[in-house]
Amino acid sequence: MILPIITAPDRRLKVKSQPVAKVDDEVRRLLDDMVETMRAAPGIGLSAIQVGVAKRALVVELDEQAKLASEQEPVAPEGPHTTRYLINPEIIWSSEKIVFCEEGCLSLPDQFAEIERPADITVRYLDYDGQPQELQATGMLGRCIQHEMDHLDGVLLVDRLSAVRRHMILRKLAKARKQEQPVTA
Ligand SMILES: [Zn+2]
Repeated sequence: MILPIITAPDRRLKVKSQPVAKVDDEVRRLLDDMVETMRAAPGIGLSAIQVGVAKRALVVELDEQAKLASEQEPVAPEGPHTTRYLINPEIIWSSEKIVFCEEGCLSLPDQFAEIERPADITVRYLDYDGQPQELQATGMLGRCIQHEMDHLDGVLLVDRLSAVRRHMILRKLAKARKQEQPVTA
């Protein structure tokens, strides 16, 4: 089922999500809906809070060989993309190397900003079956996971920008939304 994606400004996007106690069928149904919603958007990652569920769960779908846009390589090489389900993710290692890359967000339509983050991470999480996993994520995959994990703590990419740029983007979004409202005559 495709769920509505919450866009900023919205208080729910500031909420700190709660750990998932048990990976059961209800959680798996949510994950399935999130993948369907992400594909329809389309996007390469989605966190549960973006569909209004304050649980620490996210999905990402891209080829791990994908390179950062700044490396001037194809962003999406040919081949099937891997769908990953990360529940209660925790970054247990991150590289000292920091890279800048332009990011977008399904909750901030049509807004992009250069964000700095560690180039590589190791993340520990529970998978779709509730099994513990560890993943070394580099390039676009690592970046995407870090972006989605920010959502679980109520952090949007605009929160990583200066206050001036943040207010500019949020004002633009609020204005765009007002214009979308149907006119009653
Ligand atoms: Zn996002």
